Amino acid sequence: MDNSRRHPVLRLGDTGPAVAEIRRKLVMLGLLPDPGEAVLDPDEAVFDAACDRAVRHFQQQRGLNVDGLVGRETAEALEEARYRLGDRVLSHQVSRLLRGDDVAALQRRLLDMGFNCGRVDGIFGADTAQALRELQRSLGVTPDGTCGPETFRALDRLARTVTGGHHQNLREAEALARSGPRLGGKVIVIDPGHGGLDHGNVANGLTEASIVEDLAARVEGRLTATGVQAYLTRAISARHSRRTNVDDESRAMFANEARADLFISLHVDSHASPLPNGVATYYFGTDRWGQSSATGERFAELVLREIVARTDLLNCGTHGKTWDLLRRTRMPAVRLDLGYLTNPGDAARLADPSFRDVVAEAILVAVQRLYLPPEDDAPTGALRVDSLWAESGSRS
Ligand SMILES: [Zn+2]
Repeated sequence: MDNSRRHPVLRLGDTGPAVAEIRRKLVMLGLLPDPGEAVLDPDEAVFDAACDRAVRHFQQQRGLNVDGLVGRETAEALEEARYRLGDRVLSHQVSRLLRGDDVAALQRRLLDMGFNCGRVDGIFGADTAQALRELQRSLGVTPDGTCGPETFRALDRLARTVTGGHHQNLREAEALARSGPRLGGKVIVIDPGHGGLDHGNVANGLTEASIVEDLAARVEGRLTATGVQAYLTRAISARHSRRTNVDDESRAMFANEARADLFISLHVDSHASPLPNGVATYYFGTDRWGQSSATGERFAELVLREIVARTDLLNCGTHGKTWDLLRRTRMPAVRLDLGYLTNPGDAARLADPSFRDVVAEAILVAVQRLYLPPEDDAPTGALRVDSLWAESGSRS
């Protein structure tokens, strides 16, 4: 993984007030023992082995990279995890959207009562405000889209009659069914995870950026031939010419603005050891919020199966994560980590253009299978690209 950002990173052995703050939050979450009455000097707080274990435990719970490092994403998640519904007034703050477990709890309640706020992502956006106004109207509360004391009281009075929570996944499935089996007209954003001055991982004489850019072009060409509107996130760097590193949030916003049906991010992994190898796929999901993107998970499974069936890459599985890239995208989003650049076997495969062609074909077939009704679906590895062209009928 390489979600590195320019943000101070705290780790095992660090000391000082910033560590004290992390420890305080971990205590509040019940992941570190409460020091009780003992007043500790923040300057003397230590990121010790117990703190490291607690951070890893927290990262595991939240679907973050489990590395024991507190960088921007983990620090923000620790901040968000403190809030319980009712702790603070919630509203749609356009300049900086409120994020937190209290927002996720509100979204869960909204969905359970049948108000469509999109998915449970813990981010108070326009959809959540709109759903909240509808709820307020139905409760006879001023429909101001602000969840304050009046709304909290009304929510408390409500018997929690609905315990479902599958509304969101049903809606995703309905949207998928409505969109039909044709690829023509679909909007798909392909995201080469690195490019320009950002080389990504470098090993065995290869750079991640050149591999994922080449692969993205191959996928884009195939998708376009089937009538899909394919966009590359490379266009972002053109807009922000002074920025060398496009962050995951910008990539997600690009896909949101394009109103994409599907978002596919391409990466190659690396490791300190040459041994790890294989392909893994990731979708938005976390047990903590009891929430995942069902369509994202299905595509992550399909694309993994198609790649494994057509190549000899090791199957490293499909995993739910809450990375910004997957969380901030409003459509099903999947990240592929296509082998390890640091593994000589994987590197040799990735260096071969014909191997990348096979991977591009596997991705295209997975896209088509995602939109095929179940009764028309073919066994893994069976669909060929030329038959897709015939079906889509929009070859140009
Ligand atoms: Zn990468």
